[in-house]
Amino acid sequence: MSTDVTTPGELTSFGVATLFIDGKWEAADTGATFDVTDPATGTIIGQASDAGGAETDRAIAAASDAWPAWARETAYRRAEVLRAAHDLMVERAEDLAHLMTSEQGKPLRAARNEVRYAADFLAWFAEEAKRVYGQTIPSNRSSHRFTVLKQPVGVVAGITPWNYPMSMITRKVAPAVAAGCTIVLKPAEQTPLCAAAVFKVFEDAGFPPGVANLVTTQRPEQVGDRLLDDARVRKLTFTGSTEVGTVLAGRAAATMKRVSLELGGHAPMIVFDDADPEHAAKGVSLVKFLNAGQACISPNRIYVQRGIVERFLEVLTDRTAALEAGPGHQANVGIGPLIDQASLEKVQRQIDDAVGRGARLLVGGRRLTDNGLDRGYFFAPTVLADVDESMVIYREETFGPLAAVIAFDTEDEVIAKANDTQYGLASYVYTRDLGRAVRVSEALRFGIVGVNDINPTGAQAPFGGRGSSGLGREGGAEGIDEYLDVKLVGLAL
Ligand code: NAP
Repeated sequence: MSTDVTTPGELTSFGVATLFIDGKWEAADTGATFDVTDPATGTIIGQASDAGGAETDRAIAAASDAWPAWARETAYRRAEVLRAAHDLMVERAEDLAHLMTSEQGKPLRAARNEVRYAADFLAWFAEEAKRVYGQTIPSNRSSHRFTVLKQPVGVVAGITPWNYPMSMITRKVAPAVAAGCTIVLKPAEQTPLCAAAVFKVFEDAGFPPGVANLVTTQRPEQVGDRLLDDARVRKLTFTGSTEVGTVLAGRAAATMKRVSLELGGHAPMIVFDDADPEHAAKGVSLVKFLNAGQACISPNRIYVQRGIVERFLEVLTDRTAALEAGPGHQANVGIGPLIDQASLEKVQRQIDDAVGRGARLLVGGRRLTDNGLDRGYFFAPTVLADVDESMVIYREETFGPLAAVIAFDTEDEVIAKANDTQYGLASYVYTRDLGRAVRVSEALRFGIVGVNDINPTGAQAPFGGRGSSGLGREGGAEGIDEYLDVKLVGLAL
């Protein structure tokens, strides 16, 4: 790490007070903490407060008390604090990126990109706050009027994962706060310091006490139970696995909370033989190994039309072999560690299963342990060819650096195969045929389609899935609607 950059410890100089409740930093009531480790080295980089039910109750009470006044603020005032948070985040970008690399493992360049993406949500929703328009509807009675108002839903519970530890927070907090809601956020236990650093930005930007509250914990059920059972919480916004999201949504139904869920994915990538196989292979290598494959929109099934599959594999294999794995602070590192031991085991299990059923291992295929990498959770970027439906990887999300390639023959066949999944988040198509691009993007049953595009995301665009990938949209004009109730006012003159 360069010497002019603040260390994670300095940046998050909270001691062990990583709970932010009613505008104050607090330790857990019991003083309990948990260690935060760097997945590249196993080094402990800090501690976080281990909150339980009592602290969660206080955070909900703070959010509930702050809500009426925040809801009454003008949209212009709400926009002001969000804009200030954006500017501060940009100002602190370098420190935030270094912290993220230490805590989550992604290469510094990717961490810088994520900080920018996280800040984008603050700027976008600062503007959207001012565009919460209602409606007037012509009535069927002359002495009568209909007006539609959009009003904040109230207290929101947000739960976020570790793989994008800052942007997943701003993608929820920014629209909630813009809409006039208040929020209690529980981040993943692997990345509480990134969460605390983002909340420090909110504090310094002038968020009023109680508007945004942070509860770090390694006891997610205890905190989750309180958030879900409390009737004052009117909305759950969750990003994480389909398994956990399904349970939480079921529980939220008991108090009839609004729910948005951003869950797992199993993205198909389709490369037609009218596309340039070298360009497509380059694209696949970039998007597949981004964040070491730990992304919900990572391609999990890469379908390549038979005529170009061998050339495609050649280029993909060369590019994959050239990727340098290592701690994200080192120059030239293109791929960081996985988050934990269980993730290493899952990737290895999928490879062993596939190879046992006839897949060809072209590169990678094992944990990396040379040159000190055994201290972290590094897995060699891997390419498998001849993957088929009998293999676990064909249905199970990988969340690791493993590219699974499947040959196909016709357009109809590949559309049917791509849609044959319970998931429906991202999908990708490479083709130079305009008609085919339109046909295929309309036929894919996914929330997002990238056509010759490996990054179909942005704060200004609606992100989300269907089926087991979730409900609702984050970002875009749709993102703020998730935090607004519709009220109809009928007026008899
Ligand atoms: P996870 O295990 O479901 O955890 C997500 C969050 O839920 C964490 O904060 C976790 O806390 C919390 N949690 C777990 N059990 C809980 C409970 N009973 N009550 C309250 N909170 C609970 O998912 P993950 O492994 O962190 O994230 C990876 C998954 O997220 C992948 O499936 C990925 O596709 C998905 N993801 C989706 C999107 C999207 O936009 N669709 C974006 C990113 C990631 P602890 O950390 O304390 O366990």
